[in-house]
Amino acid sequence: MNLYSTNNKELRVSFREAVFNSLPADKGLYMPTEIPSLSADFIDKLDQFSLQEIAFEVAKTLIGDSIPASDLRQLVDEAINFEAPVVSFDERTAVLELFHGPSLAFKDFGARFMSRIMAYLSTTTEKEQLLDVLVATSGDTGGAVALGFLGVTGTRVTILYPKGKVSPIQEQQLTRNGQNIRAIEIDGTFDDCQALVKEAFNDSELNRQFRLTSANSINIARLIPQTFYYFNAYAQMKRKRITDIVFAVPSGNFGNIGAGLLAFKMGLPVRQFLAATNVNDTVPRFLTSGSYEPRPSVATLSNAMDVGNPSNWVRIMDLFEANRDLLKEKVTAYAYTDEETRKAIDELYNSHQYLACPHTAIAYLAGKAYKNEQEGNYMTVFLSTAHPCKFPDVFPTDLRKAIDIPQQVKDLESKPAQKDLLGTDFEAFKQWLLER
Ligand SMILES: *Cc1c(COP(=O)(O)O)cnc(C)c1O
Repeated sequence: MNLYSTNNKELRVSFREAVFNSLPADKGLYMPTEIPSLSADFIDKLDQFSLQEIAFEVAKTLIGDSIPASDLRQLVDEAINFEAPVVSFDERTAVLELFHGPSLAFKDFGARFMSRIMAYLSTTTEKEQLLDVLVATSGDTGGAVALGFLGVTGTRVTILYPKGKVSPIQEQQLTRNGQNIRAIEIDGTFDDCQALVKEAFNDSELNRQFRLTSANSINIARLIPQTFYYFNAYAQMKRKRITDIVFAVPSGNFGNIGAGLLAFKMGLPVRQFLAATNVNDTVPRFLTSGSYEPRPSVATLSNAMDVGNPSNWVRIMDLFEANRDLLKEKVTAYAYTDEETRKAIDELYNSHQYLACPHTAIAYLAGKAYKNEQEGNYMTVFLSTAHPCKFPDVFPTDLRKAIDIPQQVKDLESKPAQKDLLGTDFEAFKQWLLER
């Protein structure tokens, strides 16, 4: 697999280089030089394969000879060790649950795959030194990265998060793992955490001492595994003789739907993609007006989608560069307010006894809106990106009581919290790193 930069199509880097750089120096995003197609035979037989078998085949097709097949098979089996079931409500509506991994969010696919790819692609000389991952988080990403790298040999993760600004379950996921995961609570904001991490990456002494890397959300190794569950959802539907599918995707940075569109480009039959956002509606506005005007992000209930300038959008534009009309034809976008989100949560619970997190509820609304506009006998599959227990404050008391707490959370609760508290001063953070 070779990749170019969306800002420079002449550039050629290896998969390995793209994984360790995350971003090209020209600030574009890495994209595969070729989007390979899966064989028609494989697509036709998808219903005969497990999620892990599908994941291996898709990864092999994309990554090619950058990783030998038998090693890749093992990496995939270790990374994708949980299921992504489609739960049907009725003949026309179903939900694809992506929250059965360790951090209870779809980001587990990306984080678990990337961690193992990074450990695997480190050269023998590099392996003599720990790979030090530094992350600043405001919530969901940090948990997925911590749990994604947990126990991966040759790696160590340091997570900075703003004191008092993450939910209790999110904090447990950051602070109770032990092993190769360290958490620092910063007496400041998320921006302060980010500034500290950025300064560390630019510090020559730290770079001499440590092999530093980011676990950037736009890393190509996080995008690839997100294609797996689209193929696998299709496989599950096909077993029920349903092959006409609309995917409704809760969208913030557009990495999730970007992977869906990549799957489509690789040959997965999909009737339509629905991009569902909260009031941070830069993409819905773009698809209506044709002009891309990012705005500062606004805080909402579905805070993992509070993105004013979605970083993966350039990837989607790049995928459809040769055919912009196809993009407008294939993607319909909808945006919803917090009030509509709350109503959707109630409606899902009252009509289907289904408790959805606010991000998921927004995708459900998009599915409903599309169904009102478009006739046809298709199945709408809306993606559930996180377990509701991660966002307890969103629910009224009676619904909060109905949340069942998954085993992953109970396991963490019994472990002691380990964290250090630091201020926003870079020298203190640097000393902390150097002393450990
Ligand atoms: C990250 C996240 C999203 C948004 O996904 P993108 O790939 O950024 O569009 C939606 N829901 C949850 C729960 C998330 O953590």
